[in-house]
Amino acid sequence: MLATGADLFGVSGVSLRQQMYYALLLVLEAYVAYLIYRSARVGNRYSRAMVLPLIAMVTLGAFDGVNAHLHLTPLPTYIMPLSVYSFLYFILQMIRDQLVRSQFLESRTLELGYRAALLQERAERDPLTQCRNRGSFERDLPSVIWTARSAGTPLSLLLFDIDHFKQFNDTFGHAAGDMILRGFARTVRAELDKQKSFYRWGGEEFVVLLPGCDLDAAAVIGNRLRRTVAAFLQYEKHPVTVSVGVSVCHGGDDTAQALFERADSALYAAKAAGRNCLRVESPQAAIGEEALG
Ligand code: GH3
Ligand code: MG
Ligand code: MG
Repeated sequence: MLATGADLFGVSGVSLRQQMYYALLLVLEAYVAYLIYRSARVGNRYSRAMVLPLIAMVTLGAFDGVNAHLHLTPLPTYIMPLSVYSFLYFILQMIRDQLVRSQFLESRTLELGYRAALLQERAERDPLTQCRNRGSFERDLPSVIWTARSAGTPLSLLLFDIDHFKQFNDTFGHAAGDMILRGFARTVRAELDKQKSFYRWGGEEFVVLLPGCDLDAAAVIGNRLRRTVAAFLQYEKHPVTVSVGVSVCHGGDDTAQALFERADSALYAAKAAGRNCLRVESPQAAIGEEALG
């Protein structure tokens, strides 16, 4: 604008414009170079990759400016446009950066997935007995019922309650009680195959889901587990026993809650019968309360 203004006032603006262009270019580029250098120093990846192209532009541009003014070469040369090739460095740096970043994101995604699985596992397990916890049981049961119903296979539920557990706590202390709980879980787990889900429902109450087992088959498994506990689990020579309630899933509109409640009633019956025994759901309970009126 200044050079054009100078033209209007009769001063030779064309050559002045050229000199001013290079002078201005040098000043502005130096300023931009300073800004880029500063942001490269604080870690800006783009600025870092721009340092080389910038040096090339400034150096070649400065050479062109000086050459135009002082005629260092016989012919006027303009080598600054060649600095465009130095942007190749910028592009390669960016590609490399992108690759590194995508690799980093990939490994981070894997790590986060692993951590999420670990947290979920922790959220679903009881830390004392390593059984799945009640929340997990309540989440699983409806879908286990649905699967059994769609496959047309039976599904039974065993509800265990350790007998006179409070007495163990009161006599030997809570640490002893904890040991008994762990021992019970270990004993049952050793007897069950992987298909059978085992949960700690509450304090000293545990549930086993038996897909593929009708009431009779479930009673056989429940009694085997009960006998194993009575035979092998003890604390300081005091045998630990367990009572068991068994229920089976009925078709139609049987629900998770009703299935559990029938096992709970059967468990009460086992306790009332003197403990260390197993009771199955009553036929009346199987028909359902609505039908009974
Ligand atoms: P019953 O034969 O009728 O089942 O009698 P019980 O003594 O086993 O049943 P009760 O419900 O009276 O007592 C259960 C006890 O279990 C009470 C509670 O302090 C204890 N308990 C619950 N959770 C834990 C635990 O994680 N560790 C220990 N040590 N004790 C627990
Ligand atoms: Mg209990
Ligand atoms: Mg008990």
